[in-house]
Amino acid sequence: RSILGAGATREDEALEASIRPQRLDEYLGQQPVREQLGIYIEAARARGEALDHVLIFGPPGLGKTTLSHVIANELGVNLRVTSGPVIEKAGDLAALLTNLQPHDVLFIDEIHRMSPVVEEVLYPAMEDFQIDIMIGEGPAARSIKLDLPPFTLIGATTRAGLLTAPLRDRFGIVQRLEFYTPEELTKIVRRSARILGIDCEPEGAGEIARRARGTPRIANRLLRRVRDYAQVKAGGRIDKEVAQAAMAMLKVDPEGFDELDRRLLNTIIGHFDGGPVGVESLAASLSEERGTLEDVIEPYLIQQGFLVRTARGRMATPKAYRHLGLTVPARDTG
Ligand code: ATP
Repeated sequence: RSILGAGATREDEALEASIRPQRLDEYLGQQPVREQLGIYIEAARARGEALDHVLIFGPPGLGKTTLSHVIANELGVNLRVTSGPVIEKAGDLAALLTNLQPHDVLFIDEIHRMSPVVEEVLYPAMEDFQIDIMIGEGPAARSIKLDLPPFTLIGATTRAGLLTAPLRDRFGIVQRLEFYTPEELTKIVRRSARILGIDCEPEGAGEIARRARGTPRIANRLLRRVRDYAQVKAGGRIDKEVAQAAMAMLKVDPEGFDELDRRLLNTIIGHFDGGPVGVESLAASLSEERGTLEDVIEPYLIQQGFLVRTARGRMATPKAYRHLGLTVPARDTG
């Protein structure tokens, strides 16, 4: 998925770092999350304690990693970043935990992909700031208890339901990130343009925002590609028309859907009569992973009312037919 991730250049990554919000007041949108976390952070600081463990969930690109940076900055502590699949052995996690300073934040992305053995080590670490590690092998092996400094674990995942119940229960603070409104994304695009020195009119920013699938990461990527287009074709200035022309070149349509979104809707309609179709059959038809469909593509289509999830599978809505320029079939409502 080119706009989302694959194909990001090193330049993209450097730019991304320069526009990543550092403080809560630069973190735009997500009003309820900001308000609540602001209170918890202030309270923990005033008590001189580590912040309670935080679980953040929501579709990719909504700012989970960014939020964990912001939390660590606001707490005035170090942030260590890792991810579930990277922690292979219990010892890897033990090494990370024993190297933390008091009140530090450990961020584990894709926390649902941790192995069960590693997850077991995390339970007492989260609850009692202690870990049990095994030394030696065979009959001589013994377990020793190590005390850890009080720390904050921030776990990120696409869906809270992917976590095991015992892990989920150990987070005192659970926050769900929502898709951003076009108005919030317009502010994000204008802020990024300011930082990157891009000449972008409010209407141009609005056009990019409307087509960013409610996602800041996509908004920022689109901004950079539209900037390239503006530089070569329009003297560097992004207005509404330039944004629209660039987006047409990128094959991002007025709803912000790219080829994969349209292919998914076209497949449900063309191959499965509009649905219902099970996610496995759909994934096979599209040659995509089931997880990519469920976590990356479907949430926005569902939120925008182009797709519904029923007990029998996915169905395209009349809105999807209309968007693709197709006639809405008369359904048997009996
Ligand atoms: P993933 O789940 O794949 O790790 P993510 O949800 O952690 O993705 P980030 O990498 O944190 O997403 O955010 C993507 C980009 O969007 C960041 O570079 C950041 O600049 C921008 N961004 C995210 N959230 C906000 C926000 N609330 N305000 C302004 N910019 C934001």
